[in-house]
Amino acid sequence: MSGTNGGGRVVVLLGSPGVGKGTQGVRLGRDLGWAHVSTGDLLRAALTAGTPLGLEARRYMDAGRLVPDDVIVDLVREHLAAMPADRGVVFDGFPRTVPQAEALDDVLAEAGRGVDRVCLLEAAEEVLVKRISGRRSSPGGRVYNIHFDPPRRDGFCDETGEALIHRADDHPETVRTRLAVYREATAPLVGYYRAKGLLARVDGEGDIEQVYASLRTAVGERGSVPATPSRARG
Ligand code: AMP
Repeated sequence: MSGTNGGGRVVVLLGSPGVGKGTQGVRLGRDLGWAHVSTGDLLRAALTAGTPLGLEARRYMDAGRLVPDDVIVDLVREHLAAMPADRGVVFDGFPRTVPQAEALDDVLAEAGRGVDRVCLLEAAEEVLVKRISGRRSSPGGRVYNIHFDPPRRDGFCDETGEALIHRADDHPETVRTRLAVYREATAPLVGYYRAKGLLARVDGEGDIEQVYASLRTAVGERGSVPATPSRARG
């Protein structure tokens, strides 16, 4: 990859809960040396730290509902302000609504930046449900799946030895709500970004390596454009 820290490029990983945005986003960020910004991780960190924001977010998260847009946008704005403007960023789980996407465009434009590519990860619903129900994560953010990517020692992180967590919002009833919320609130972003010529589709049904290879192709090389026309920054 050219450039040492991404040249300020911004990639959004879009897709349903369970499609692999977290797993792929962590790896993409690490391999490219970019910041991986997951609003879900930021909210869970705020919750663990017991901040007012974390406590407010909790009731939405536990119910599988979206945290209000203004709360999320402020969180992302602060996070971006704290990092160098030329650092590449992979967003995972943000934006999740059209107002969030519009706010992201505004925040980035203030710094002379814009979203460069939106990678839509896609998989059938039964695949998503199996992935989500098997998901276990370490407090440090490493994600396993008891069906597809189990830890060497059952229940414990390979890297840190910490006990793995089954997220409260990964239980079946909440998962159904989260999938419905995705369809209603987040899926319209596909049209939003397609109209800007930024959308690249990625088959999210393969194993982790296959999906990652497709994702790297979709992210493309610096300066390349997606296969769809009329690239615009809004
Ligand atoms: P995730 O880890 O991305 O699945 O996010 C877990 C939960 O955090 C979601 O179900 C929402 O309650 C909340 N959340 C994360 N990101 C956002 C966002 N961009 N907008 C609203 N709520 C969010």
